[in-house]
Amino acid sequence: MANRQTILVIEDEKTIGNYIETILLSNEYKVLRAMNGTTGLSLCTSHHPEVVLLDLGLPDIDGMEVLQRIRGFSGIPIIVISARSQEKEKVEALDSGADDYITKPFGAEELLARIRTALRHQLHVGKGQMQPPVYSRDGLVIDFERRLVTLGGNAIHLTQIEYKLVSLLAQNAGKVLTYDFILKDIWGPYADTDNQILRVNMANIRRKLEANPAEPHYIFTEIGVGYRMLE
Ligand code: CA
Repeated sequence: MANRQTILVIEDEKTIGNYIETILLSNEYKVLRAMNGTTGLSLCTSHHPEVVLLDLGLPDIDGMEVLQRIRGFSGIPIIVISARSQEKEKVEALDSGADDYITKPFGAEELLARIRTALRHQLHVGKGQMQPPVYSRDGLVIDFERRLVTLGGNAIHLTQIEYKLVSLLAQNAGKVLTYDFILKDIWGPYADTDNQILRVNMANIRRKLEANPAEPHYIFTEIGVGYRMLE
C-alpha cells in the first residue's frame, strides 16, 4: 500500500535520523530531513509535510521553541522524539501542542503506529468528522450515545467520573493524554484536583475492565506523563 505522505524529520543525530528515514522510506512515506531547527522550520513552511517528527535537543533552536513556532502557523501533527528520562519535557511538549511523543530507543512498529495515529486524528479534525459512535476493541465496547460499557457482552457499571474518563481516553484511542489535560477536561479548569484523584479513579476502572489490573490491556500508564488507551 502506498502511503506517499511526507514526513519531516527534525533530528540532529545522524544515526537516529538515518534509522527513521530507512523505516519511513520502506513504508512508502516521503521523507524530508533537517539537522537543526532553522532548516526544520523552513522545510515545514515550504513543503507542507503531513507529519513532523521533532527531536527536542537541537543544536541551534530549542526543540520546544520549534514546536511553538510551528504551532503558530500550523496544526500539523507533531510527534516529539525524546529520551527516556525526559518526562517533564514530554509533558511540556504535549501541553504546548505536540500530538504525541516517542521515546528513544524505539522500534519500527512503534514509530509507524504513532504516525498512523497522528494522521488519523488529523483526518478527523481536518474534515470536522465526528468520532465513530462506538469504541470496540478486544471485547471492550463503549457505546458513546447510549453511555453503555460492556466487556465480553456483560454490562460494566462505571460511576459518572469513571465513564467520563474511559470515554475521553477511548475517543482519543492510541493517543497519550497528559494528567493535566485529563484533569481539566473531566473536572474543569478551576477544579482543585491533583493526580491522586485520577490514580484512584483509574485503579477502580482497571479493577472493572482489566483481567489483570497490574498489567493492563486496555488503558496503559505512560509513567510521569499520562494515559493512553488501546487503539
Ligand atoms: Ca538531539
